[in-house]
Amino acid sequence: MEETPHRRRAQVGARDLERYAGLFAARTGVMRSSAMRDLMAITARPEVISLAGGLPDTSTFPAGTFAAQMTRIAQESTAEALQYGPTEGFAETVDCILEVMGAEGMLPDPDDVIVTTGGQQAIDLICKTLVDPDDVVVCEAPTYPGAVPVFCSYQAETIQVDCDEDGMRIDELEAVLARLDDEGRRPKFVYSVPSFQNPAGVTMSLERRRRLVELARQRELLVVEDNPYGLLRFGGEPLPPLYQLDGGDFVIYVGTFSKILSPGIRLGWAVAPPPVMEKIVLGKQASDLCSSTLTQHFVREYFGEGRWREYIADLVDIYRSRRDTMVDALREYFPAEASWTEPEGGLFIWATLPEYIDTTDLLAKALRENVAFVPGQAAYVDESRGRSSMRLNFSGVNDDEIREGVRRIGKAIAEQVELYGALTADSSDGVPTAAQPREKAVEGGGDVLPFRQAGGGAA
Ligand code: PMP
Repeated sequence: MEETPHRRRAQVGARDLERYAGLFAARTGVMRSSAMRDLMAITARPEVISLAGGLPDTSTFPAGTFAAQMTRIAQESTAEALQYGPTEGFAETVDCILEVMGAEGMLPDPDDVIVTTGGQQAIDLICKTLVDPDDVVVCEAPTYPGAVPVFCSYQAETIQVDCDEDGMRIDELEAVLARLDDEGRRPKFVYSVPSFQNPAGVTMSLERRRRLVELARQRELLVVEDNPYGLLRFGGEPLPPLYQLDGGDFVIYVGTFSKILSPGIRLGWAVAPPPVMEKIVLGKQASDLCSSTLTQHFVREYFGEGRWREYIADLVDIYRSRRDTMVDALREYFPAEASWTEPEGGLFIWATLPEYIDTTDLLAKALRENVAFVPGQAAYVDESRGRSSMRLNFSGVNDDEIREGVRRIGKAIAEQVELYGALTADSSDGVPTAAQPREKAVEGGGDVLPFRQAGGGAA
């Protein structure tokens, strides 16, 4: 076939921007790019070790199983798998969702479930249903970096409540709610990732879960529980999801197949009480009519085999070992003033450096060393926060890459520390340098979780 020459656009200039600017909706003015998506483009270069993505290790999925299931779909269900489907998703997909939720002790009514195009769309649809411009949304600090652009695009006023090692500080949440009461405002919902949080890796304690649900019920306050990682636990005791504690009156649940099966199939779900679900369904009709019927068939076949729990158990073993590798590497290569969380599940570690290191600047340096991470500010609506922290992913890279990636970041940090020491040597006493690290932990401001210190702490 003869190749058609495609038109290549010259760089977008000021005149091009002007031409369209008058047409943009007001909401585009506050839209934010997802830091992770931007990074994905850079880190696609094969020489870059990316600790930036939130990628599960899909290389462990048995190719033979995938081939057999897709072949079966082609042989038995071609017409349906290639056709549109119901907006709510196939009943068989919902059955699979009930199995997954059942594994964490949740028993929703199947009519309360909608299949979505990933958990990401569920978050978007929930905001579309509930949030008008200037409405208040409350979430954790730090929060899931992919939720920030959603809250921004619906022009929400987002209030972030600090996390510590036991998850969102519910005492601080209560103070925020009291302040909003005084102002005559009512948040549309509280968004939380209670288990193995993205990005901090922390898990909300049982006591806090109970208190949050109690508050929700007392105040008729909606809580959006986003739980992609609940089944990816490497240690400690399972905790009941907020949805289970509440029974589904005030907790809207978001789940996904991305981390327990594949993000490429783009299937997640939301569970909400009927009046909310009715609006979510209308919102989804307008967004994309239905989620992929082809991949819903794949999910049906895969769950039909009955080995999905074993696959998760395999993933858990791999991720536990990678978490250990990353923690060991952090101890070896990060300066003594650095600290980090040590998650009992999920995909991420949150590391915090001395306050004078800006991780966005550090990322530029790190990329020159061919390694990437997510700078902490991506997890805050107020971008002046989280600037000395970073999110590190340990699930999508192998042990050698984890060690080498952390080593390279450690090198970039050491250079920054050295530079800072050199710049401030005359004017300040006791400034840490790479050669003379500070002895005590750097206690940061409100956006810093308490951590285990380099060289110490439990695995
Ligand atoms: N919520 C959280 C907390 C996540 O970490 C992610 C993915 N990284 C998502 C939602 C969205 O994932 P997906 O759309 O692939 O289900």
